[in-house]
Amino acid sequence: MNIEQFYPLFLKSDKVTIDSRKVGKNDIFFAFSGDNFNAAIFAEKAADDGALAVIVEQKEFENKDKNIFYFPSTLEFLQQLAIHHRNQLKIPVIGLTGSNGKTTTKEIIHAVLSEQFNVQYTYGNLNNHIGVPLTILSIKAEHEMAVIEMGANHQKEIELLCTISQPDFGYITNFGKAHLEGFGGFEGVIKGKSELYDYLKSHHHTIVVNDNDSVQTEKTKNYTPKISFGKENSDYQFGLLSEDHFVGMEYQGTKAVSKLTGAYNFTNLCAAASLGLHFGISFEKIKHAVENYTPTNMRSQVVKKEERTLVLDTYNANPSSMTASLHNFATFEGRKTIIIGDMLELGEESEKEHQSILKLALELAFDQIITVGKYFKSVNPSALSFDNTAELIEYLKQNTIHSENILLKGSRGIALEKSIEFI
Ligand code: ATP
Ligand code: MG
Repeated sequence: MNIEQFYPLFLKSDKVTIDSRKVGKNDIFFAFSGDNFNAAIFAEKAADDGALAVIVEQKEFENKDKNIFYFPSTLEFLQQLAIHHRNQLKIPVIGLTGSNGKTTTKEIIHAVLSEQFNVQYTYGNLNNHIGVPLTILSIKAEHEMAVIEMGANHQKEIELLCTISQPDFGYITNFGKAHLEGFGGFEGVIKGKSELYDYLKSHHHTIVVNDNDSVQTEKTKNYTPKISFGKENSDYQFGLLSEDHFVGMEYQGTKAVSKLTGAYNFTNLCAAASLGLHFGISFEKIKHAVENYTPTNMRSQVVKKEERTLVLDTYNANPSSMTASLHNFATFEGRKTIIIGDMLELGEESEKEHQSILKLALELAFDQIITVGKYFKSVNPSALSFDNTAELIEYLKQNTIHSENILLKGSRGIALEKSIEFI
């Protein structure tokens, strides 16, 4: 079985999945195998239940009569099929990467472009070597554009994801201190994320640039085609608005206030609005998209609970997003409690980075500082320093937080959101 032979079958399918529980009639199932698990054991059942085709990576599971096909690597086949599909698509594809804000920016770009076009986009956070091909394969004939989130935690990953998604437009949300371990320090982050620029430049495709980010401006100096925003001489300029902690933007006299908090979200909004304007969408429509987009994904979500304001940012954390979050929260009026969880995956930098976040928190003079996780504990010898979220919950059961404003932010692994109901 090769890709060209298989492609017509793919075109007839409803969707492609790697999850045996989600295979439906008329789907294509890619059975992955790992050290402890082999999804190929579900191949027969999927086929019997009506799957159009199944790809397995062990010869013994092949059964051509049932459209169960063998290929030495399921992953390779998935990626090659995605590349083949991408080659047939005649629609603009927008690729996004960066250390922080990819998902948020992707969602806002989708909201803005959907005002006028039928846009396919990355579902949730499916942004890796499997998620990107799956997203590409979910693009159907009716779609007019696509927005693809690309994540990476080591070099050459974005390069691969660009080969698969072949973006016509690309934007790097920021260069931050995330995944320092895998990238080899901050310089490594810049190099790794810039693989998107390298791809776009070699194809003469459009780069979206935030001129307030000196690295972005420097890396794209004298490059065309480019869509820039942020400075006086950029293509688009927006004014920053803040209403009751919600971030908004002003463009040529029209105001749009989002349901997002955090000044960093202004940048995310600007990137989306610039793309929208570039594609001929009026700012009136962009305003509609910005005002109606509601974050529900624990990324900079503001929740009113009785008399209190909770800022939920428990989806992830690293030094850059933690710093941005603390500065934003410091502007809230009234008493403020921060509950911050460890920032994982920082390797050798861990202790130093937790130390500096704690120092920043002290400088910003929050009324109460609660930390969760071993890294914070090692630098914060306070009674309000817990090893894990379970310990925090025990504390919350016995004690009340008196502040009107509470920020929760930590890495995914700390799962601070579990404590919300006890606050
Ligand atoms: P992941 O690597 O998990 O896919 P992501 O890049 O998709 O993360 P989001 O999930 O959109 O990022 O946002 C995570 C957090 O990053 C936000 O809740 C916020 O604290 C912070 N953040 C969002 N946008 C920016 C930005 N432009 N600059 C810095 N920090 C940001
Ligand atoms: Mg994401």
